[in-house]
Amino acid sequence: MKKHILIVGSGFSGMWAAVSAARLAEQENATDLQISVLAPAAELRVRPRFYEEQVSAFVAPLHDLFAELNIAFIPGSAENIDSSNKTVWYRDTHGSAVAATYDRLVLATGSQTRRPPIAGLADHAFDIDQLESAQVFEKHLDSLVSLPASAARNTVVVCGGGFTGIELATELPARLRARFGNNTDTKVIVVERGTVIGGRYSDALRSTIEAASNELGVEWRLNSEIDAIDASGVTLKNGERIAALTVVWTAGVQAHPLSEQIDGERDTQGRLKVNDSLQIPAHPAVYATGDMAHAKTDEVGNTALMTCQHAIQLGKFAGHNAAASLLNVEPYPYRQVNYVTCLDLGAWGAVYTEGWEQEVKSVRDEAKKIKIAITNELIYPPAADRAVAFAAADPLAKFV
Ligand SMILES: Cc1cc2nc3c(=O)[nH]c(=O)nc-3n(C[C@H](O)[C@H](O)[C@H](O)COP(=O)(O)OP(=O)(O)OC[C@H]3O[C@@H](n4cnc5c(N)ncnc54)[C@H](O)[C@@H]3O)c2cc1C
Repeated sequence: MKKHILIVGSGFSGMWAAVSAARLAEQENATDLQISVLAPAAELRVRPRFYEEQVSAFVAPLHDLFAELNIAFIPGSAENIDSSNKTVWYRDTHGSAVAATYDRLVLATGSQTRRPPIAGLADHAFDIDQLESAQVFEKHLDSLVSLPASAARNTVVVCGGGFTGIELATELPARLRARFGNNTDTKVIVVERGTVIGGRYSDALRSTIEAASNELGVEWRLNSEIDAIDASGVTLKNGERIAALTVVWTAGVQAHPLSEQIDGERDTQGRLKVNDSLQIPAHPAVYATGDMAHAKTDEVGNTALMTCQHAIQLGKFAGHNAAASLLNVEPYPYRQVNYVTCLDLGAWGAVYTEGWEQEVKSVRDEAKKIKIAITNELIYPPAADRAVAFAAADPLAKFV
């Protein structure tokens, strides 16, 4: 019987894990290896673009790629992992519970926005974390046009000033102008717990974000926390009331809840701690990758972030290593020393940094070109062509 690698999730890490495993299988002439991807749909959803307009377009189909590389696709949603019997129970498209057994399991189900128990958050805040929620948000923005102008209609509160919050907030002035026209006084307010803008970033990156915010008129409420959200706005813990029909929650992400079903150590974001081969130490047949994995990137103490930059490489290593363990090939220890940041800053442009120290290398239009090259090309799936896909899936090939 063929050995089976089951990859759960078809995002950046799951898709690349499948291609990378198929690459090694071909290199080793392995005819007794079956690679399957289990996910709700054979598509890659380009989450880094969910702050942009026309979000429904940011989905890349994977049928042709999987067919070309003999990767089986199983439509469904994983619900239970029985690691002692090497079985994943999933719900198929007809709603039935089905079992899939594996020899190696790669967990690649990504992450989700963390929604803390703040009054009104569940009912009144939008998010742009998943395609469906970003579509709901866009539809809501469209619906504002039919309402009479008011301070609340014209104001968006973005809760959380991390990367997602900054990219959304700096894009919103243009998105609001496109709906209300240039003569309407609109407001975008970022509510941030930290005492400075971008407190976790380098000074140079921080001051660039500040300059862009000032030019775009994006306001920041620093040292501020949300106390409650309702249909007409937010109340901050210091008592300030902001009237806004649109409140977007972007503060914090956590690993997909399937991570809780594996007996292993987790970090504060719920990611499974993995060894250099990306295996769960207590369950060597199980690999975690992408936003599900807490993995060491280098020898100086850095760990992978929940970014697609890391998810793509983690996926290539996880797929390669899962296949290697079945084919008596030495695994590659996961390492990803290079780290870049490219942050979209709306109509102001963008900022591009290199290294963990986030040294600013370019800004404005020059950085915007890099951002567009990354989000519109680099992170998309490879062509459905064996040679092209396998060359790109080599874990040791330079990525960024
Ligand atoms: C708004 C936004 C902006 C971002 N901007 C950037 C950026 O500028 N740069 C950057 O590097 N990163 C960015 N990121 C982060 C990046 O998108 C993630 O780090 C990346 O998507 C993680 O890849 P992944 O493969 O781990 O998970 P995902 O891409 O989330 O893929 C998860 C996969 O698992 C599937 N799945 C989920 N549940 C199940 C289940 N129960 N059973 C089977 N399959 C399941 C999903 O359908 C999906 O196919 C951004 C994210 C967001 C939301």
